[in-house]
Amino acid sequence: MGDSVQKVVAALKDADCFLLSTHINPDGDGIGSMLALSWALKKMGKRHVMVIDDKVPEMFSYLDGYQDILPYAEGMLLPFSPRCLVALDVSNIERMKRVTSLLAEGGQIINIDHHLSNSNFGDINLVDIKASSCAEVVFNIITGFGFDLDMSTAEAIYTGIAIDTGRFRFAGTTASCMRITGDLIDAGARISLIADRLFYDNSLETIKALSEVLGTASLYLDGQLVVSSLGNDFYEKNDKEKIDTEGFVNYPLTIKGVKVSLLLQEAVKGVVRGSLRSKDDSIDVNDVARIFGGGGHAKAAGFVVNEERLDAVKAKVIDAVKAAL
Ligand code: 5GP
Ligand code: MN
Repeated sequence: MGDSVQKVVAALKDADCFLLSTHINPDGDGIGSMLALSWALKKMGKRHVMVIDDKVPEMFSYLDGYQDILPYAEGMLLPFSPRCLVALDVSNIERMKRVTSLLAEGGQIINIDHHLSNSNFGDINLVDIKASSCAEVVFNIITGFGFDLDMSTAEAIYTGIAIDTGRFRFAGTTASCMRITGDLIDAGARISLIADRLFYDNSLETIKALSEVLGTASLYLDGQLVVSSLGNDFYEKNDKEKIDTEGFVNYPLTIKGVKVSLLLQEAVKGVVRGSLRSKDDSIDVNDVARIFGGGGHAKAAGFVVNEERLDAVKAKVIDAVKAAL
């Protein structure tokens, strides 16, 4: 766990001129955590900016404050020189890419996360691996400030929890996570609208990509591993921008007898992104992802390999899973 919620609360109260960020390929937990904390900082009259080294996914545009998130740009001008970088849902510092270059010399890093693989790269590290999501950790910080929850904050936190618990199904869905969720609904979170935006807003390209992925599913290691893929040819033939593969890796995992699901994608030629999921306590996919320079959680992890063919990566990951089983 490292540092306490109280220590983070005190550090945030003490400092000013914050830079909030999350990992590349940002998901609902990273974006929701950032926005929730930004509302709290705003209430305290603290100057802050939100910057990510990626596009800001349009699917989160229903969240208040979404339009204030800036994509990193070379030479970008900020209204102040950030003295404190708050990393949210970031397992290692490299996952923020160039955002770290915006922090003033000698500035402080506060690392708020829930990844098992977190490298404790901050000056202050609040890493709660039992939390369902980074958003749940942010909820505890905001409670520590003593603020009442408002609807904007509640919806940002709800988004993080809903995404990272796989819609309240994964092991992180504890009683305390559900109690927090109750508080968020009491505070006005529009859960039905959020579900529509997160899960019922797919493009036709995404559904066709799902069909492609499911069509490639094959079993290995006596049916304990399922591998599927979305190759570069599919991405080239379709509008890349409209394809969102979040959650696809979970479908093949539902096959009876399967313990691990691997999805490999090559959206950019020569860059292979792997997603791993486990449904068996005996296999920790974070360990497997680490072999390929990635990380994550015991049951959900990922990695990126450059300059290798998808089939070559596939053969290596199959070997790594075989060794881990
Ligand atoms: P996904 O498969 O959905 O991309 O990621 C699953 C989990 O693994 C997430 O918690 C994510 O943060 C983590 N993850 C994905 N890709 C990487 C990576 O390249 N490096 C690290 N350290 N973690 C990753
Ligand atoms: Mn997360």
